[in-house]
Amino acid sequence: MKPPFDTTHRPTKAEIDLKALRNNFGKIRNRLSPKTQIMAIVKADAYGHGAVRCSKEFANAGADSFGVATLEEAIELRDNNIDLPILCLGGVWPGQEDAFLFYGITPVICDLDQATRLNSAAKVKGITVPVHIKIDSGMGRIGILPNELIIFFEGLRRCKNLELEGVMTHFAAADSDEGKEFTVGQVKKFDECLATVYASGFTPAFIHAKNSPASLTFVKEVGNMVRPGGALYGLTDDMLPESSKLNSFKPILTLKTNIAYVKKIPAGSPVGYARTYYTKRDSLIAALPIGYSDGYPRSLSNKTNVIINSEYAPVIGRISMDWTLIDVTDIENPETGNEVILIGNDSEKSISVFDISSIAKTISYEITCGFTKRIPRVYIN
Ligand SMILES: *Cc1c(COP(=O)(O)O)cnc(C)c1O
Repeated sequence: MKPPFDTTHRPTKAEIDLKALRNNFGKIRNRLSPKTQIMAIVKADAYGHGAVRCSKEFANAGADSFGVATLEEAIELRDNNIDLPILCLGGVWPGQEDAFLFYGITPVICDLDQATRLNSAAKVKGITVPVHIKIDSGMGRIGILPNELIIFFEGLRRCKNLELEGVMTHFAAADSDEGKEFTVGQVKKFDECLATVYASGFTPAFIHAKNSPASLTFVKEVGNMVRPGGALYGLTDDMLPESSKLNSFKPILTLKTNIAYVKKIPAGSPVGYARTYYTKRDSLIAALPIGYSDGYPRSLSNKTNVIINSEYAPVIGRISMDWTLIDVTDIENPETGNEVILIGNDSEKSISVFDISSIAKTISYEITCGFTKRIPRVYIN
């Protein structure tokens, strides 16, 4: 037997503030009418924040159900005793039908092939299972087109072991002011489709459309359920329209590490791969045990800061797979073991996920989703 070694000593970690997460959930809850259900979107490991722990917190805070992208993500929740309804937004792939039935996971269905396969599997077991269908009202991605609905329903009606529990659509441009009119158009199309749903004899229990930006800024109610993701994790900076900055949502993640080594190098020395940086003076350089394989983007090389002892210190040279170098010449007594904040804030200074994603020319979601399993998620509060 191997002894139970403690392998958690590398100081690099993502601290997740569950109190901030509960507050974000509560802020969304408060903006909705009491009868509107919240499906907390926890796909992609809760946008990198850890799906199991976050889902438990959302459940305690009053979430009604969860949305994931894949069967594997759904099973992870079930295996960790999460019993609320789970909607698999990515649908059911051939061969997955029995697992969906076994774990009680509801798929989003966009074509008759998926419906027929799931129906057959349910028929074998002698059960009726719920499904949601997705309508493409303008996203142009997955979903049944409005003019194909009638034919789809003819097929769906033959699937006696499926129950149409939900009808949904997805907004393409709810995150911007200039998208407002387009969103209104999507709602109108969706309403027309719903008329077809009812006219075809279906009475789905759930109608849902709104993602985070729509849940927070689009006043008109659409259906009786919303599907926020990013806002729950406080990633609202690049997702809410300019006109409606609700800066009360707080990011819940702090990316931290400790200084591993400090060294003195003379003026004119190259630093890191490809010598993209040369010291301009005699310098103190510190090495941080984090790199692009952790999900700290290489595109931040020479372009961002970290926070140490409540001061900013610049990242210098190329960020490599496992290491990042910073200039600590102006920091008071920098030493091995000093805590460094790469994303987050202390009492005075702040570097947000949005700051980082802007420099890396992407969106905050891609940054938090990009943290790899090498970074332990540590939960506080
Ligand atoms: C990811 C996703 C959401 C959540 O979107 P946010 O912008 O993070 O709130 C909602 N619905 C669907 C179908 C999604 O894929």
